[in-house]
Amino acid sequence: MRLIPFLLLSLAALAAVLSFHTLGLPSLPAASTTVVLAAIDEAEATQRLAAAIRIPTISGAAGQPSDPVALAAFAELLASHYPNAHRVMRRERIGDGSLLYTWTGKDAARRPVLLLAHIDVVPVEPGTEARWTHPAFGGVIADGYVWGRGTLDDKLNVTGLMEAAEALAAQGWQPPRTLLFAFGHDEEVGGTGARAIAATLKARGIRADFLLDEGGALTTGILPGVSRPVATIMSAEKGYASFRLTATATGGHSSQPPPDTAVTRLARALVRLQDRPMPARLAAPVDVMLERAAPAMGLVNRVVIANRWLFEPLLLRLLAAQPVSNALIRTTTAPTMLRAGVKDNVLPAEASAVINFRLLPGDSTAEVEAHVRDAIADDGIAISLEGSFASEASAVSDPDSAAFRQLAEVTRAVFPDAVVTTGLMLGATDARHYEGLYDNRYNFMPVTLNAADLQRIHGTNERIAVADYARLIRWYRRLLETLD
Ligand SMILES: [Zn+2]
Repeated sequence: MRLIPFLLLSLAALAAVLSFHTLGLPSLPAASTTVVLAAIDEAEATQRLAAAIRIPTISGAAGQPSDPVALAAFAELLASHYPNAHRVMRRERIGDGSLLYTWTGKDAARRPVLLLAHIDVVPVEPGTEARWTHPAFGGVIADGYVWGRGTLDDKLNVTGLMEAAEALAAQGWQPPRTLLFAFGHDEEVGGTGARAIAATLKARGIRADFLLDEGGALTTGILPGVSRPVATIMSAEKGYASFRLTATATGGHSSQPPPDTAVTRLARALVRLQDRPMPARLAAPVDVMLERAAPAMGLVNRVVIANRWLFEPLLLRLLAAQPVSNALIRTTTAPTMLRAGVKDNVLPAEASAVINFRLLPGDSTAEVEAHVRDAIADDGIAISLEGSFASEASAVSDPDSAAFRQLAEVTRAVFPDAVVTTGLMLGATDARHYEGLYDNRYNFMPVTLNAADLQRIHGTNERIAVADYARLIRWYRRLLETLD
């Protein structure tokens, strides 16, 4: 066969296969319009959130947990705002200020549902106070928003859950199975509270059907070419490991430097490591995320995603081009700290650097250490694991479980135009401390965020629209009502 006709024929066959796969993508479920959602007294609920914002449960930048007085005041505020919920649920104080609520279900033999949120917030960066339109701890309601630290991360989930529980408890409703609300008090500085709650649940032999924590949200304008809000109910979390690399040398006077020094040796190692990133791949949560979001994308993206068997290398190259999508496809390497020398005329006997890695599910800390050793190719450099924050990547939860389907259905009921998909958490949440205490875990909060809103989390002018907070409460309420 001559070359040109052969190529044309191959291209035609390829086009047929590509379009077959593209047509085979799951289609978007029709928007749901039949669900009648509970009425909410938005004004009252908003006032209660604003009051919660005014209590400065701040986890310090230096790693110290919140002021015990503020934590006690916060617990007191919940009890006074949500009396019916407190009547039907058992409340326990765990650790240095975390709260565990247990609402016994009609069928106590069934696996409970574990719902997480955290009470603490990050501080306002010193020097940025004046940039806030309304004070970070003022709890001001203005222009259709509640303003302040914790309106997105994460007090809205504490009060949103309590609002839903309060309304249902007032009606005499009882959950079909046991509900556990676990509110950590120091998530932002490592989560000793979450660890203590997890230990308590473990000692009681409790294993939840599913765990839900902060993390994913509905985003708009983030996924290229998608105008509808994309709900990412995340099904895994990246791991966390920092390694210290230490180069040693004899040291001495800088007037007679040897050809190699601790500093240059370390620098060489860092450059080698930077030049050899961990390999890219489509881990399960990201693969499913793309597949489920693709039907809302333009034709070119649909064809590429539907035909990952052919376009995976291209897709990985595209994703690697941006830091945020690069973080979805590999264990990332980030040099963050450097230390060497005490004086300009003294050769340091030691030079060290800390590299922070965020582990893709499937990569272990031991594998990352082996990669580092291999990449720097210098046996004279010591490698050690740093700090107490380290955690392996989570297991990947089932994106087709009954729990996932329920979360997706509730999301479509409250946000009829949402494209529901899954995803991978890049940061660490309290959920990581509960590994082994659930069948599936998901990270999601029912709030719509655009790129500017994402900057407000841990940033300036954190706020939530009153209408968005009302939707969040409806979402939680419907989640509880449909647990059966
Ligand atoms: Zn948070």
